[in-house]
Amino acid sequence: AEEQLRQAQKMEAVGQLTGGIAHDFNNLLTGVIGSLDLLQRRLARGETDKVERYATAAITSANRAAALTHRLLAFSRRQPLDPKAVDANRLVAGMEELLRRTIGESIALEMVGAVGLWRTRCDPHQLESAILNLAINARDAMPDGGTLTIETCNAQLDAAYVAQQREVGAGDYVCVCVTDTGAGMAPETIARAFEPFFTTKPIGQGTGLGLSMIYGFARQSEGHVRIYSELGRGTAIKVYLPRHHGEADAPDAILAVPDDAHR
Ligand code: ADP
Repeated sequence: AEEQLRQAQKMEAVGQLTGGIAHDFNNLLTGVIGSLDLLQRRLARGETDKVERYATAAITSANRAAALTHRLLAFSRRQPLDPKAVDANRLVAGMEELLRRTIGESIALEMVGAVGLWRTRCDPHQLESAILNLAINARDAMPDGGTLTIETCNAQLDAAYVAQQREVGAGDYVCVCVTDTGAGMAPETIARAFEPFFTTKPIGQGTGLGLSMIYGFARQSEGHVRIYSELGRGTAIKVYLPRHHGEADAPDAILAVPDDAHR
C-alpha cells in the first residue's frame, strides 16, 4: 500500500510538472504567434514601421522556448555518473575564470580552500556543473552586487540531520559551500527548492531545474545538499560528497590527482 501511495504521489508530481512546462511553453508560443500576427498585418498593408520590432519579439520568445526544451532534454537525458577521486580544491580553483565571467564585475568572488582537504568521490563534471549552477543562482540573488564565496572543508553531518534523513551512521564528507550575500529565500521557497521545475524567476529565465539536478547528483553520489538561507541576508548551499578512501584513481583526469600524490 505504501508503494502504491508513493507511485500515486510520483504520478501527481509528474502531472504537475508537465502541466507547468506546457503552461510556460504555451505562454512563450503565444508571444511568438502574437508577434508574427502583427508582423503579417503590417506587411499585408505594405507598412514597414515596427516590422523589425515584431520580428525581434518573435525571435526572443522562440529562443526562450528553445532554451526551455533544451534544458528539459538535458535533464531527462541526465548524464550517467562517472565517479573518480576528486580534489575539490583543485576543481574549484580551475573554475575561477569561468566563475568570474559568470558573476560579472559587481560581485566579488572569494575562494577559500581548506588545507588538508580529503579527496571526495564523485563525477567531477557534474560537480563543476553543480557549482556553476549555484553561482548563477547566487548572481541572480545579488542584482545590486555582493560577495560570492566558495569554500571547501572536511565535514560530518550533524546527528539531528542524519536521524531525520534516516541515514545509517555518520560518515566523512567533503563539503563545498557556496554562499551569497543576496536576497535570501523565504521558508516556502526553501521547502520547495529541490522540486524539479519549481522556480520563482520570470518565465524564460528560470527553469527550476538547477537545485533539483544538484540534489539528484548529490544523492546519486551518496551525498547530501543542505540550504541555509535568510531573507534579506543571503544564502549558503552546502553540497556534501563522500570522502574518498584508498588509492587515487589512474591518472586519467587532472581533477583526480590529489595534491599529495607524490607522497
Ligand atoms: P531556477 O534558478 O531556474 O529558478 P533552481 O532550482 O536553481 O531553479 O532554484 C529554485 C528557486 O530557488 C529559485 O527560483 C529561487 O527562488 C531559489 N533560489 C535558489 N538559489 C537561490 C539563492 N542563492 N538565493 C536566493 N534564492 C535562491
